[in-house]
Amino acid sequence: MKSKTSTTIAKASSTQAATAASSSAYNQQQPKAQTEQATQAVNTTQASQTVATPTTEPKTISQAVSEQKVLIVGGGHVGLSFALLLANEGIASTLLEKNTYPKISPKDDAQRTHYLDSRNTALSRRTVQIYQEIGLWDELQSHACRIDAVQISEQGSFGKAQLTKEEENVESFGQVMENAWLGRKLLLAVQQNPLITLIDGASVTEVTQTPASASIVYDTDSAKQQTLSADVLVACDGRDSTVRNLLNIGTKDYDYGQSAIVGVVQTDKPHEHIAIERFSPAGPLAVLPLTDADGDGNNPTQAGYRRSVVWVCKSGEEQQYLDDDDLFLATLQKAFGQRAGRFIKAGRRGAYPLTRVLAKQQVDGRIVIMGNAAHTLHPVAGQGFNLCMRDAHVLAKMLANQVHRGGDIGDAQMLKKYEQARQTDQKRVIRFCDAVVLGFTHPNPAVKLARNVALLAFDKLPHVKPLVATYAMGLKS
Ligand SMILES: Cc1cc2nc3c(=O)[nH]c(=O)nc-3n(C[C@H](O)[C@H](O)[C@H](O)COP(=O)(O)OP(=O)(O)OC[C@H]3O[C@@H](n4cnc5c(N)ncnc54)[C@H](O)[C@@H]3O)c2cc1C
Repeated sequence: MKSKTSTTIAKASSTQAATAASSSAYNQQQPKAQTEQATQAVNTTQASQTVATPTTEPKTISQAVSEQKVLIVGGGHVGLSFALLLANEGIASTLLEKNTYPKISPKDDAQRTHYLDSRNTALSRRTVQIYQEIGLWDELQSHACRIDAVQISEQGSFGKAQLTKEEENVESFGQVMENAWLGRKLLLAVQQNPLITLIDGASVTEVTQTPASASIVYDTDSAKQQTLSADVLVACDGRDSTVRNLLNIGTKDYDYGQSAIVGVVQTDKPHEHIAIERFSPAGPLAVLPLTDADGDGNNPTQAGYRRSVVWVCKSGEEQQYLDDDDLFLATLQKAFGQRAGRFIKAGRRGAYPLTRVLAKQQVDGRIVIMGNAAHTLHPVAGQGFNLCMRDAHVLAKMLANQVHRGGDIGDAQMLKKYEQARQTDQKRVIRFCDAVVLGFTHPNPAVKLARNVALLAFDKLPHVKPLVATYAMGLKS
C-alpha cells in the first residue's frame, strides 16, 4: 500500500515525493491527483541530480521544504514518530516500511483492541510532552493510563521504595498505552499528513552514498530494484537494522540470557494507577496500570482492573509461560504476593529475547541510525522507546534549524553534532538499565543485602528520589 501515491510513485525519488507532499501542503489550490501526475513525470536519475545546493540566504519554510529531501527507512513507532516530528517542523519526508500496513480509517477510532490481547509501552512524561508538541496527544490519551505511583521491591527481601506523584509534585510519572493503539494512531496521522509519503511493503536491500546524497535500492512484491535518493537518510529499521549492516557499522552486543514475557492480565484489585516493579531471582518484573474496557480507570468512579505485565524468565523457559495460563498466573502471584491483588485472568502473551545492541556509530556521512537500530535496551525500566523519542525530537529540531539557516539538511558535520549531543543521555540510560538488571539479579548474598539497603536508603534520602524520578520521566538528561 502506498499512501498518498499511486503505484508508479514508488519508482519516483524521494525528491519528487517530498515535493509532491509539500506542494500539496503549501499550495492547496493544486489537487493531489495533479501533483502525483507531475511527480511521476520526473524520472529517478533526473531527480537525484537535483540535490539542493546549500546557500546562506535565509528561506521561507515553503521554499525550504520543497528543496529538502529526507528518507526514513523503517516505519515502526520510532520511524512513524520521527516523520511526524519532521512534518511538524514543515519538513517533508518519504517513509519506507517492509511490512504492508493495514488500511486504517479514522472511523475505526472507537474500536478497541481485544480486552486481554496487547503489548504496552510506558510513555515517560517527556514523551507525552513531545506528542503534545506535535498535536497528537489529544488523539492518544483516551487509551492512556496514568502512573501516579511506583512501588519497587525485591522478592524475599526487606528493601522497598515508593515514588508518589504527590511527593514528587508531578501530574504523573508517565502514561501506559497499548502498542496497538499507539501504532494505529501514529499510522493514521502519517497517512493523513500531506508532508509524508509512505511506501509500505518495501524492503531496503542496498544503501550507497556520495558526498551529495544518500541512495537506497528497495524491493516490493510487484517491483524489484527500485531506487530513491535523498539529502539525508534516517534508518529506524530496528534491532537487526539492514541499513546499519549494509554500512558495515558494527554493534556491541550483550545477551542477557533472558526473555521477556509480555501480556495483559486482570486482577481482582483495582490498579489505582500504581506501577509495581518487583525483582525476583529470575529477573526484574513489572506490572503496570492499563485502561479498562468498562472504564479507563482515569476517572475515580471507574475501577481499572487491567494491568500490563512484563515478566522476565531465563532463555529457554518461555514456552511454558506462553502456553499455560494457570502456570503464568500462579507464577505472577508467587512473585508479587498480594501487592496487585489476585491475578485472575491472563491474555495472549508474547516472548522477546533480551539483548542489548548498541551501534558503534550512529552517523555515517548523510546517514543517521536511530531507534532500536541505534540502541536496543532491556525493557525493565521502560526506557527504550522514550530514549528513542528524545533522539528523534533533537534530530528533528536540528534538521529544522539547518533548513531555516538555508544549510544542507544532510551536512555530515551537523549530523555528527547530533550524535555527540545525544551521547550523555544515551549513556546514562544504558548504564541505568544495566545497573537495574544486573544489580538485581546478582545472587551473591552480600550484593543482595547491599541492594536492599540501597532501596531503603533510596526511599528515605530526600534528594535522591526526586532526581531519579526526574530521570525516569525523561525530563532531564
Ligand atoms: C518486551 C518489551 C517491552 C518494552 N516496553 C517499553 C516501555 O514500556 N517503554 C519504552 O520506552 N520502551 C519499551 N520497549 C522498547 C521499545 O519497544 C522499542 O524501543 C521500540 O519499539 C523501538 O522501535 P523502532 O521503531 O526503533 O524499532 P522496531 O519497532 O523494530 O521497528 C523497525 C521497523 O523497521 C522495519 N524494517 C526492518 N528492516 C527493514 C528494511 N530492510 N526495509 C524497510 N523496513 C524495514 C520493520 O518492519 C519495523 O517496522 C520495550 C521493548 C520490549 C521488547
